[in-house]
Amino acid sequence: MGYIEPAPIKDKENPLESMMSRFDAAARLLGISTEMYDILKVPARQVIVGLPVTMDDGSIRVFEGYRVIHSNILGPGKGGIRLDPGVNLDEVRALAAWMTWKCAVVDIPYGGAKGGIACNPRTMSAGEIERLIRQYTVAMLDVIGPDRDIPAPDMGTGPREMAWIVDEYSKSKGMTVNSVVTGKPLVLGGSLGRTEATGRGVTVAALAAMDKLRMNPYRTTAAIQGFGNVGSHAADLLHERGVTVVAVSDITGGYYNAAGIDITAAITYRNSIGNGTLEGFIGAEKITNEELLSLDVDVLVPAATEDVITEDNAGSIKARMIVEGANGPTSASADDIINSKGILVVPDILANAGGVTVSYFEWVQNRIGYKWTLDRINRRATRVMKDAFDRVFETSQKYEVPLRLAAYIVAIDKVASTYKYRGGY
Ligand code: NAD
Repeated sequence: MGYIEPAPIKDKENPLESMMSRFDAAARLLGISTEMYDILKVPARQVIVGLPVTMDDGSIRVFEGYRVIHSNILGPGKGGIRLDPGVNLDEVRALAAWMTWKCAVVDIPYGGAKGGIACNPRTMSAGEIERLIRQYTVAMLDVIGPDRDIPAPDMGTGPREMAWIVDEYSKSKGMTVNSVVTGKPLVLGGSLGRTEATGRGVTVAALAAMDKLRMNPYRTTAAIQGFGNVGSHAADLLHERGVTVVAVSDITGGYYNAAGIDITAAITYRNSIGNGTLEGFIGAEKITNEELLSLDVDVLVPAATEDVITEDNAGSIKARMIVEGANGPTSASADDIINSKGILVVPDILANAGGVTVSYFEWVQNRIGYKWTLDRINRRATRVMKDAFDRVFETSQKYEVPLRLAAYIVAIDKVASTYKYRGGY
């Protein structure tokens, strides 16, 4: 059977390989057949397009664009579009699979997909990026669609790019179809609550996990790595729920205050200094990102980037719980060390799924032509996250495995059993 031998762990781990090795482990535990393993592993559709774009100097450059629908068993594909010079089919394929498991674990009716264009948006003008995005949309007209595959922002894209996709797609259909993407500007059918949705979901997952460990938020300390969209909202909301956030960090380093960081002041400071960092923030002692990871706190939230907890530093982590706001912050080789220390890890595909959940709500609102209140969105997203947490927790008890493996078991089981009902030939 294809999944009997897990891939050997390399010196420098690739987070996507880490994800696949956990997928393999969960598939083994579930005892799925080789046939089903292949069905779940091989993408449903992979598209590569050449995108000629007229640059500002009048020359024409051809970019390569990708879209992979890993699975459409549960519903239309769902996943972001990444603009980065390093984008390639392999990466897009793995990120698409990641989306399949994330959507399945929170039980939203989507498959998994991902797109990308190999380009450097930092060296391109807004006009060049707009022409590139419009070309990509036209090239993908028979791939994307509200019932087929719904893109969203990822690295290098945001609401601006989503608006261009809506416009180009709508022109081709002769009517406005804003449900073709999520992460749109509010005026074009974006959802209230989307910006803070991932950090809010991280908070819900953290509180649910604290509850299981009988930890009182008011007597709990947390350290949060990354003070961008996910990290700063998680910090703010954890603080609001009584948790003392003693350290935060960003690319400029860590900021520590044993009495608790004033999160509102930190966010105001970050928004005021122009480059979006905490550089020069007073009211905290400067530490390194590495020191933040090994602080003596109750909860550690890696919400910056991938592969920050590895076999080299996992041994020094003192937190009782890790809640993964980022995608792939823990390498597979660190799992055993963390598990042997009895640290509870709420894995990325569960902990940061609040974002895709509210993206799903955006699509639902677009389709029913109605705008929900922020309160309704937050209540429903909280319920989705809590239900998903409970499902994963029960599965971890049933199989006697850590939450990470349990999350993959829940996701794989959901997709595999849906496939069985639908049948194939
Ligand atoms: P962001 O760009 O808004 O913020 C990233 C933050 O991390 C910044 O404060 C940055 O300075 C810091 N950072 C970057 N590299 C770092 C490093 N090496 N060490 C310490 N800090 C570093 O990004 P975001 O949207 O908050 O995303 C953070 C993570 O969460 C990513 O892994 C992303 O894939 C994941 N994620 C985001 C969302 C979402 O809705 N934004 C959803 C799911 C997962």
